[in-house]
Amino acid sequence: MRTSTFTRPLAVVVAAVALTAGALPGSAAPPGPAGAGADVDGGASVDGRGGPGGPGRGGPGHGRPPAKVPVAVGTGGAVSTVDPDATRVGLDVLRRGGNAVDAAVAAAATLGVTEPYSAGIGGGGFFVVYDAASRTVQTIDGRETAPAAMGPDAFVEDGVAIPFEEAVASGLSVGVPGTPATWQAALDTWGTLSLRDALAGATRVAEKGFVVDQTFADQTEANADRFADFPSTAALFLPRGAVPRVGSVLRNPDLARTYRLLARQGVDALYAGPLAQEIIDTVQAPPVAPGSTRVVRPGLLETSDLAAYDVVPREPTHVTYRGLDVYGMAPPSSGGSTVGEALNILETVDVGTLDETQALHHYVEAASLAFADRNRWVGDPAFVDVPLAELLSDGFAAERACLIDPAAALPKPVTPGSPDGTYEPCAPGDDPGSEAPEGTSTTHLTTADRWGNVVAYTLTIESTGGSGIVVPGRGFLLNNELTDFTFTDETQDGVEPNLPGPGKRPRSSMAPTIVLQDGRPLLALGSPGGSTIITTVLQTLVNRIDLGMPLDEAVAAPRATPRNGPSIQAEPGFPRTGLEALGHVFADTPEIGAATAIELLDRGKLLSVAEPERRGGGSAGVVHPRR
Ligand code: GLU
Repeated sequence: MRTSTFTRPLAVVVAAVALTAGALPGSAAPPGPAGAGADVDGGASVDGRGGPGGPGRGGPGHGRPPAKVPVAVGTGGAVSTVDPDATRVGLDVLRRGGNAVDAAVAAAATLGVTEPYSAGIGGGGFFVVYDAASRTVQTIDGRETAPAAMGPDAFVEDGVAIPFEEAVASGLSVGVPGTPATWQAALDTWGTLSLRDALAGATRVAEKGFVVDQTFADQTEANADRFADFPSTAALFLPRGAVPRVGSVLRNPDLARTYRLLARQGVDALYAGPLAQEIIDTVQAPPVAPGSTRVVRPGLLETSDLAAYDVVPREPTHVTYRGLDVYGMAPPSSGGSTVGEALNILETVDVGTLDETQALHHYVEAASLAFADRNRWVGDPAFVDVPLAELLSDGFAAERACLIDPAAALPKPVTPGSPDGTYEPCAPGDDPGSEAPEGTSTTHLTTADRWGNVVAYTLTIESTGGSGIVVPGRGFLLNNELTDFTFTDETQDGVEPNLPGPGKRPRSSMAPTIVLQDGRPLLALGSPGGSTIITTVLQTLVNRIDLGMPLDEAVAAPRATPRNGPSIQAEPGFPRTGLEALGHVFADTPEIGAATAIELLDRGKLLSVAEPERRGGGSAGVVHPRR
């Protein structure tokens, strides 16, 4: 590993930067710790004054969504999610003596109520934890899994891939959910609460309802045609046949009952028994509205697939970067390997000393090279031989970094390299990379507790609204995660690592990340956004670590998502001019990702950060707000 160029403790940088915020690159001046504390004082619903499971200020009945606070500073624990109810429930668990893992499960279960189009017990995810007792980072792979009957041609008909949207809204795309088993495993391994107690707050929110905000209404509107074709979905999300209006209260008593069932019987209730049978019935014969002309293919899941499901504890990925230890999610996610490889490539130059254009040029090229390698080499390690150690080696990074020309953009797509342990400077690869279609849904949450445990948890049902199919009477959507498989092998030599397979887990981009400094947690972060997750996490790390932005500014700063395609999607405000002069090509996109993050400051203080604007803004909170 390279010698660290990062010498000052980050907490010192935060304080120094906050005082001189106006001079920093990026967006608006951050409020800094003092301002953030004041904001939290105003956010009654976020800091828990609404009481356990009950409505906060502006809660149900008030017709106003609870206030969202994007930055909070304080002690005693922190939670950051995209949603004020979920953050409140997580903070309440911490306040009652639960730890970061308990709070993460409680907040995730609440997101299953209030963000049902992004996450829930019908989906999967990746749980990364810093366990203070063992001083280690550990992970749970709770990825959805293909049925035993799924072969490599599952998404091919008459020699052609079926249309992507048809694959999404189908039983075929539904993988065995991993989220319930993830919650149980996390609680069993590191938690202090029973599943029953961890689900209590979320169950109350499902029972009492939540106030529909603009983001939820917009997401429902975008899915309305699809939802209308599935009566079980329409009954829940299109009450009286219409998109719920902003300010109305949406209750989900079916989900409350399902959560109570899990609380009573454990998650086995979903993997075996009547609920398992209902899931299988729904997947094998999707409940399509009479008269609908939608083509809805049945799925291949059997009860034996549900019964066979298990989460996989995995070693995290690890790279050192500027003297920090960066831990991420191992395959089948490509999050940890791709963020890690890009960081290793970036570490070959001192990004912090470069001008803005050169710093961003290196970010773009490092991400592009890492994406080429991701597409070529990463899949489910139970099925393909992923050269993970080599992908994350400094030798491979050095070989890849040689390709970067400070004076000109690399022609895209760049070809993947050969992570074979033998490295020549600037040796070219030979297979073109590509950008597979992926969803823009998902959610990420981050928690920390007073004992030093930290969680970064990304969970999803894949597309916004998943498969679009609610299990009748059960209150949750089934995922369409199996569309994360690559449908056909487009490589020259038949080496696509992400084709469907029996019992296989599709490649993910989810990148829950925990950074340690001197063996202690410093940062935890993650984001939704399909394959843009990787660049959102990478760019936020570069913003924070190399460019010295305070964490809230690092999250808020305009993003670009270089993924080795012909153009780079960028938000308005991302500084393009210098990069265009080097030959980079940009395409507009309104927004990328919806990150949450926590930084552990000095003297036990926590900085909890959510999006100020993207996807309607997120909700950060701490147990004891302090200036
Ligand atoms: N299914 C995607 C993945 O696992 C995430 C979907 C999203 O973030 O929109 O990478």
